[in-house]
Amino acid sequence: MEGALTARDKVGVQDFVLLDAYTSESAFLDNLRKRFSENLIYTYIGTLLVSVNPYQELGIYTVSQMELYQGVNFFELPPHIYAIADNAYRMMCSELNNHFILISGESGAGKTEASKKILQYFAVTCPMTKSLQIARDRLLLSNPVLEAFGNAKTLRNDNSSRFGKYMDIQFDYKGVPVGGHIISYLIEKSRVVYQNQGERNFHIFYQLLEGGEEELLASLGLERDPQLYKYLSQGHCAKESSINDKNDWKTVSSAFSVIDFTEDDLENLFGIIASVLHLGNICFEENHQGCATVPDTHEIKWISKLLGVHPSILLEALTHRKIEAKTEEVICPLTLELSVYARDAMAKAVYGRTFTWLVNKINSSLVNKDFTKKTVIGLLDIYGFEVFDKNGFEQFCINYCNEKLQQLLIERTLKAEQAEYEMEGIEWEPIQYFNNKIICDLVEERHKGIISILDEECIRPGPATDLSFLEKLEEKVGKHAHFQTRKLAGPKGRKRIGWMEFRLCHYAGEVTYCTKGFLEKNNDLLYRHLKEVLCRSKNRILKECFLVAELENRRRPPTVGTQFKNSLSSLLEILISKEPSYIRCIKPNDRKEPSKFDDLLIRHQIKYLGLMEHLRVRRAGFAYRRKYEHFLQRTKLIMTTISLFTSRTKIFIRFPRTLFATEDAFEFSKHQLVARIQAKYKACLERREYV
Ligand code: ATP
Ligand code: MG
Repeated sequence: MEGALTARDKVGVQDFVLLDAYTSESAFLDNLRKRFSENLIYTYIGTLLVSVNPYQELGIYTVSQMELYQGVNFFELPPHIYAIADNAYRMMCSELNNHFILISGESGAGKTEASKKILQYFAVTCPMTKSLQIARDRLLLSNPVLEAFGNAKTLRNDNSSRFGKYMDIQFDYKGVPVGGHIISYLIEKSRVVYQNQGERNFHIFYQLLEGGEEELLASLGLERDPQLYKYLSQGHCAKESSINDKNDWKTVSSAFSVIDFTEDDLENLFGIIASVLHLGNICFEENHQGCATVPDTHEIKWISKLLGVHPSILLEALTHRKIEAKTEEVICPLTLELSVYARDAMAKAVYGRTFTWLVNKINSSLVNKDFTKKTVIGLLDIYGFEVFDKNGFEQFCINYCNEKLQQLLIERTLKAEQAEYEMEGIEWEPIQYFNNKIICDLVEERHKGIISILDEECIRPGPATDLSFLEKLEEKVGKHAHFQTRKLAGPKGRKRIGWMEFRLCHYAGEVTYCTKGFLEKNNDLLYRHLKEVLCRSKNRILKECFLVAELENRRRPPTVGTQFKNSLSSLLEILISKEPSYIRCIKPNDRKEPSKFDDLLIRHQIKYLGLMEHLRVRRAGFAYRRKYEHFLQRTKLIMTTISLFTSRTKIFIRFPRTLFATEDAFEFSKHQLVARIQAKYKACLERREYV
């Protein structure tokens, strides 16, 4: 009927590959908007899933939905995160190889929720034996524990992950989940001592105060009211209506018992959490000589009790510093400012290392030694590209991480895909894309990259400062095409680079970084005096976190930047050996509101998530491919008659829902099969649309 809306007009296409105007960003945005307004939050680009955060419960994650997607071929049902999970799982089972699912997007876009949905999907749909139920439960319950210690309310997200997380789910040869392993990346320790207006510290502090039993709080010397603690009250939003700390405490407490935490572990763990709160409340005063003193030692006494250290030694370590002269150690008093610095450094170090201990503890409960041969599906829930009004060392690290992951995508998808067509001798029009290796090199190259320059400034004897670091940058990389400093910044139409700033032209756009704090954060210095106190602590967890051997080792530990660079390079090694699936999460608006689609915000995300490039490559290429041997195995009955779409080493099938996508395919000869497919999908093929 003329004028009537077709289904396609109303709900858009479920795979961007099918868009007529596939090169147009506006058409992309329109399609996303149409679907979002119909509560269809998932859309494919080939096998990549684009997900828009609905900010409301849509009833699409029920057990019956899970069952619907189980074992069904990828394109047979509307796009869903379960299809991605199921596809990776079935490929892993049939090809006995390892997979990973990379979930990316900006803060609040729904990455963590997505990773939880995938984990739940496996927990419900995978085969299970009674003896392995505990492994499954531990996998599921590791989440609330890690979130309690690693997530916090920020302006962008009430449950923002303040660390990167990679989790392997291990399966036996029958596809039963048997164990797991978690790696965490760069927890935002600075949050322990400081939060911006409207933000909170890590959830666990509030959960303990709100939900902890009277007796427990009394034994830790804590009051219930978070406002009484300096480390919890700076953001002025200790209580947040969307967060139920009391209930979350219950969830976390019961999770602890499933993940093998003993009474002793918990006593030590909460001793540490309480000590951090007491530390924040230590007030220093200045005496006549300009040295720091602590007039009220109430907090010192509690910390000493909880951490098992001597109060006078702790007090001395917070107000003095040991300096090594040629043959002896000299103890110098600290100024008030340096004592505050020492106190905060201690709180950050204690929390940061306890978080690492927690991850290790969870890992030891997820280990399953009974299964030596395992295949894995890794889930990577990692911080997305960040551009704030003010960007510091953290944003620099996070954006560098995104550059590296973009490199992986380029290597695995854009570059590899095109190289493959060439190798296979298939006609192909090259797709232009920006290879960001040049930016990765600018940041990480040995001796020449920004991290190396920063490290040099950190270890250089003499007065290095954030400004001298910037000057070194200007000198060494000032002429790089993707780097700009205040010297080069022209006023024409662009925001000028200010004092103490440099700008990087990332693949996703330009970001201006303020160098203030770079040296301190990269050094992450804990005075030796305090380290000694912590190494001698009787608290069992701290004993494991601060080994005496560290005191004996006079070599400088690697800086934060270098550690992060190394951990990213190991992550890439882990990923490169596995088969990828990608989920790109999009945040529809800045107000956490359902049904609000902010065009400008989303356009920006489409750009930096590289969706248009991905679409162009997918559109030009073949959507579905299998290696010969796997194809053979699957289709051996009809193999003698099939020769469709083959190249030198692989079978390529342009329309995914064809041939062996239908179970009954095995019953037909090639000619029957092709006739059937053509008859059934004729209209769709003409419209270039899936069914
Ligand atoms: P961050 O980088 O800050 O950790 P994130 O990408 O992990 O952010 P999430 O914590 O997963 O973001 O999501 C933010 C909030 O959005 C969730 O707390 C939830 O309220 C909502 N949300 C996300 N995904 C969904 C979904 N699929 N259905 C309903 N609500 C969702
Ligand atoms: Mg998250």
